[in-house]
Amino acid sequence: EAKRNGQGMIRQFNQALSQSEQERQALLKDLRDAIVHEKLSLVYQPQFSVLDGGLTGCEVLVRWQCPKRGFIGPDVFIPLAERNNLISGITAFVVRQANKELSESGFLGKSIKRVSVNISAQEFNSEKLMADLLTLLHQSPQLYPYLQLEITETAALSDLSASVRLLTRLREQGLKFSIDDFGTGYSSLAMLKNLPIDEIKIDRDFVNDLLEQPRVRAIVEAVTTMARVLDISVVAEGVETQAQLDQIKLCGCHEVQGYLTARPMKIDQLAEFVHVQWSSVSVQPSVRQ
Ligand code: C2E
Ligand code: MG
Ligand code: MG
Ligand code: MG
Repeated sequence: EAKRNGQGMIRQFNQALSQSEQERQALLKDLRDAIVHEKLSLVYQPQFSVLDGGLTGCEVLVRWQCPKRGFIGPDVFIPLAERNNLISGITAFVVRQANKELSESGFLGKSIKRVSVNISAQEFNSEKLMADLLTLLHQSPQLYPYLQLEITETAALSDLSASVRLLTRLREQGLKFSIDDFGTGYSSLAMLKNLPIDEIKIDRDFVNDLLEQPRVRAIVEAVTTMARVLDISVVAEGVETQAQLDQIKLCGCHEVQGYLTARPMKIDQLAEFVHVQWSSVSVQPSVRQ
């Protein structure tokens, strides 16, 4: 009896496994289809100077609204794409579409002087994918002068000396680099010491803990002090409240990106935002109070 139960459980377990495997395959097929037929879309999240509230740039974020499944976040489909060699297709779409939308908008190089695009670890660590990416970037000449590539600490640290060489070479070609989710890796100081970069983005988790934890405040202060000496700009990401903004300002961060100042938005909203609202948005606590 016990044996039969056991076998039944194993059968159920196998069925569940193969169901989730089938589901995964189906999701992958839909993603592949969305990439091939360009059913992804883009949103842009503005970034502002902490000092004067001026618009400094924006981050491009990819979106997938699946007709069958509804909204699927990049946190879900980017890792899936990475595991299945689809990431370069997504980056190609993001770069081409951002080049098209932003150059048509007319404010590239005017209100918006810096456009950040996320590059996955898998891409950054592959010579072939980076060569492909570079070709693609040169095919987007309107966007190219304003481009900044966001990579993560983990991506840059897997082979530090190779990263230094790559970053040096690409920066000579006019590209800028940002370290995304700064502080979440294990060797943030090694990064600051070695890597030729233009910007770091203090991870949202740090921004969250800033108010309650004096230790975190001390770390962020130290990082911004070092970054200033190294001529690296510091962006605080995921800033949602005025209290957080006040703190990141006290810590000496240069720029802010988060729901408090602006949510990610489609290009036509961005156009409106740039033209109508941006001068009225102030990130200065004294003005908001
Ligand atoms: P990330 O690069 O760190 O992007 C910031 C994420 O924080 C975005 O989530 C953004 O919508 C969200 N965010 C911005 N402000 C706030 C805030 O005040 N509060 C909160 N709670 N969240 C905020 P999103 O768009 O879901 O993207 C998640 C991650 O997916 C990104 O993290 C990035 O790693 C990846 N990703 C997004 N677009 C792309 C892309 O085009 N290519 C690649 N390779 N990865 C991408
Ligand atoms: Mg990013
Ligand atoms: Mg980030
Ligand atoms: Mg993040």
